[in-house]
Amino acid sequence: ILDQRLKKVVSYIPQGAVLADIGSDHAFVPCYCLQQNLVEKAIAGEVNVGPMEAAQAQVALVQLEDKIDVRLGSGLTVLTPGEATAITIAGMGGTLISTILEEGKANLSGEERLILQPNVDAVDVRKWLLANGYALLSEAIVKENEKIYEILVAQKGEESVYADDSEQREWELYFGPQLMREKAPAFVEKWQTEQQKRKYILEQMRQGTESDQLQEKIVKIEQLIQKMEEVTH
Ligand code: SAM
Repeated sequence: ILDQRLKKVVSYIPQGAVLADIGSDHAFVPCYCLQQNLVEKAIAGEVNVGPMEAAQAQVALVQLEDKIDVRLGSGLTVLTPGEATAITIAGMGGTLISTILEEGKANLSGEERLILQPNVDAVDVRKWLLANGYALLSEAIVKENEKIYEILVAQKGEESVYADDSEQREWELYFGPQLMREKAPAFVEKWQTEQQKRKYILEQMRQGTESDQLQEKIVKIEQLIQKMEEVTH
């Protein structure tokens, strides 16, 4: 029942974990993990009633009510600190994921492994992790149904993956330090597509009336395009 994207997310959950899947929707991830005997038990968190009910229905269907606790609430507020040893947050924007982490800091023990799959704006997630003392353990990028997804795995600890140089670090946060070294086909495709989009925007901007503000924006986009060129070669 799991697609490739979520299978990749699941591959980073340690054996025997107590899992909290936040924004669980149909609770497919917790159900799959229990069916595979990967986790001991799980919590499925949902902020919306519709998806929460879908989660409850799915859990009942596979008769895992004694192992999966479906909870209604925003983000990590459904958890008490230390209750989960692995937390998955998948299928949302990176800005929302970083907000969920920021607002739920008090609900973390700091021991959990975080497995985060932002659909867009992974940079926001990396910045939150770095600012909050999390080490980026792994990064992955997968393509499925013409969409490309990034997966970030983190745990509290010394951060050593980023460059000391602040400009280089900014780019690593943007593209992903490991991903930009590996240059997997999906990574190259993602940033080539983004580059094309920026080139189009740039053309539109160049046709606009000249102003210092516009000029500044143009220079920024030119730098970004140049960097996208570099990382995809
Ligand atoms: N995690 C699943 C996946 O990756 O396929 C479902 C992703 S679905 C697109 C996003 C889910 O996150 C929705 O069911 C939505 O209700 C839920 N959600 C959004 N904001 C949330 C929050 N602050 N706390 C908990 N769940 C949230």
